[in-house]
Amino acid sequence: MEREVNAYKCRKCGTLHYPFRMVCKNCRANDYFEFDIEPLPKRGKLLTFTFIHNLPAQFEVARLGLGIVELENGIRVTGQVDIEDPTLGMDVVGNVEVVRHDTYDDRYGFVFRAA
Ligand SMILES: [Zn+2]
Repeated sequence: MEREVNAYKCRKCGTLHYPFRMVCKNCRANDYFEFDIEPLPKRGKLLTFTFIHNLPAQFEVARLGLGIVELENGIRVTGQVDIEDPTLGMDVVGNVEVVRHDTYDDRYGFVFRAA
């Protein structure tokens, strides 16, 4: 099964939010949970990235790339960057994978690779 990362669409004005907020940033409608779930697109452009070394053991990699990607719908997300030599503005495609093993459950997030 392919996993998704969900955005939250305001039922009153259609503005997409990610991550979830209790109040719409556009129309400021104050009704709790007046949002529909909508999966985020997987393709976008790499806005910025960094590499982290010396990670805690639960990451299970020697070097972790982290980046901010602007998705096709304009929403910006953070995710892992699994690209040997990334460049700013490059096209990437995300896959939802385990990004961290915790004691009780695995954490899922975007892992971006060259499109
Ligand atoms: Zn709204």
